[in-house]
Amino acid sequence: MPGAKKLSIPQLNAISDTLSTKAIIAQISKGEHCRVCGKLLGSGPHQCINHFLAPVAVEIQNQFLDSLRDDPETSGNLIPSGFQESLFSTTQRETLLRCRIAFEQCKWSLSSMTEAAVELSLDSRIAKIWEYGCSQIINGQLWEHFLYKIRLKNGEEWALDITGCQFGPAWPLLEPWGARLARVGDPVSEASYEIGHMRERMD
Ligand SMILES: [Zn+2]
Repeated sequence: MPGAKKLSIPQLNAISDTLSTKAIIAQISKGEHCRVCGKLLGSGPHQCINHFLAPVAVEIQNQFLDSLRDDPETSGNLIPSGFQESLFSTTQRETLLRCRIAFEQCKWSLSSMTEAAVELSLDSRIAKIWEYGCSQIINGQLWEHFLYKIRLKNGEEWALDITGCQFGPAWPLLEPWGARLARVGDPVSEASYEIGHMRERMD
């Protein structure tokens, strides 16, 4: 997007080789997580979100992360040193890549995905989509985080968190708004904006 800022993959590598990456690897070590709801797979039947937004969420996340991953010169460096690849499955390796690519990209993701959000907002089942920003204590640290809040015409509200996996593979890509609140607690501060706000702000 013209004028908008994002972190390059080398910059990402510099900042994401941190404790948070170690925490992500620790989660990945436990097994494979569901891409949509974040649940750990393999321990009994997996009851995922059965909702039209689930495949939409995956598609939007793929579009966004692919746009960052498509640089062949740098994307090979996203696996951190100390990651013993032989101990992990292909899916777990892909999960790690996804988590690392998403790191600190939340504001950029809303700026970048404006068209997709506008298109989704035209779905006859959707009442409104907001760009939602909050300050929130996550894993004991204060984060500024951005995601989409979606209200359906039937009254349901959903969180679509394209870059939530930066906090680990157990973080849902899609979840009911009330479940999100119950899981992460009240934000320190929050604000909702019209679609397009983040792109304007980053221009
Ligand atoms: Zn699931």
